[in-house]
Amino acid sequence: MTPSRLVALDRAHVWHPFTQEATAPDPIPISSAKGISLFTEEGEEILDLISSWWVNIHGHAHPKVAGAIAAQAHKLEHVIFAGFTHAPAVEITARLAAVLPGGLERGFFSDNGSTAVEVAMKLAIQYWRNKGEPERTRFLSMQGGYHGDTFGAMSAGVGSGFFTPFEDLFFAVDTLPYPETFIGDAKVEAKEADCLAALDRHLNDQAAHTAALVIEPLVQGAGGMRMLRAPFLRQLVTKIRDAGILVIFDEVMTGFGRTGGLFASLTAEVTPDLICLSKGLTAGYLPMSMTFCTDDIYQSFLSDSFDTAFLHGHSFTANPLGCAAALASLDLLTDPQCAKNRAMIEAGHRKALEALADDFPELARPRLRGTIGAIDYTGAGSGYGAAVGAHLKSFFWNNGVLIRPLGNVIYIMPPYCITEEQLALGWEKVVQACRALKRDL
Ligand code: PMP
Repeated sequence: MTPSRLVALDRAHVWHPFTQEATAPDPIPISSAKGISLFTEEGEEILDLISSWWVNIHGHAHPKVAGAIAAQAHKLEHVIFAGFTHAPAVEITARLAAVLPGGLERGFFSDNGSTAVEVAMKLAIQYWRNKGEPERTRFLSMQGGYHGDTFGAMSAGVGSGFFTPFEDLFFAVDTLPYPETFIGDAKVEAKEADCLAALDRHLNDQAAHTAALVIEPLVQGAGGMRMLRAPFLRQLVTKIRDAGILVIFDEVMTGFGRTGGLFASLTAEVTPDLICLSKGLTAGYLPMSMTFCTDDIYQSFLSDSFDTAFLHGHSFTANPLGCAAALASLDLLTDPQCAKNRAMIEAGHRKALEALADDFPELARPRLRGTIGAIDYTGAGSGYGAAVGAHLKSFFWNNGVLIRPLGNVIYIMPPYCITEEQLALGWEKVVQACRALKRDL
């Protein structure tokens, strides 16, 4: 099929995610990929500097991951997971339990980041019911937080502003101000104090009705790559824990090396009661997720009655192909070379961000955490829908790099196999895009 026929058929039948179909430009047909490169049907190369929506941690078409999936497909592609089990599921669960923060021993499989969060929230509610505290049904989350597009996850993400048409149907969630910070931020302490004061007010009123806090630890992704200081995260979690409330870490984006350590909870040295994993879990090769919890939570579901069991499951629970990809990915992630690459990326971000903030007064609030580097284009509108984002995006895509700003927030979050030169080239494209934007606006 010619590229133009493919696009015409796409426009006739396909509905794309997070897209205003009436005004969006035609989608770009990709035919293959290797390492950090995507290749269009026309043979052009595009460097994937956002790991294809933050999933692809080791590069595209990696022989180890692709090989593991192919071998598994020839052996056992799927089996119902109620009443049956298989080696890839058991191995990945045990291996993850060994590298996650201590105490998160029990893993439940689902299909994507949203369902991992949905599972965590349902576990929290039923945990309290099983414990004889059914009035604990409220959740706490952070303003600007995003946790996925199913109803529980959307409710937790009420502070993201993405879900206005559905808000009337959400269940009870209270949000706390998010003390985001950046390099050279003089006001961070005041913002953190505001958040803790808001938490105190919430706890005075609602502690006995709150099931759990849901939070993206250290970095809010879709909210605009907004970063938190680790000591503050520890303080927040301690206060919540002291009030007897569960803590859910949504590590769908921050997991698997993104923030420096293997998980943001390890980077920040703080342990939640539940942790949600997806995206990098399978290196982005197959949709799969896991929610891990403590033994205390697991034990509360055990009894002689079916009523206390967790009646939740998906057709593709613990899909063996996904588990095989996850095992191959974990091997690559725990190879010492991967940690070196991630450190190189962090150093590359730091160098580029410092130079950018010096060169362009429009660029403000440089920030980085591990392999995530971000900066805001200010003075031309802000927020996810800001027109400046569409301008920048088309510049990037026409100039050989997949960078997809979140409104006025420009960020790079590459696969870990990127080279120093490719990363520098990515930031050079940001410089070029900003020059073009200044000229055109
Ligand atoms: N939580 C976070 C922190 C995310 O970044 C995302 C996706 N961007 C989700 C949950 C939802 O994941 P999915 O799109 O796989 O449902």
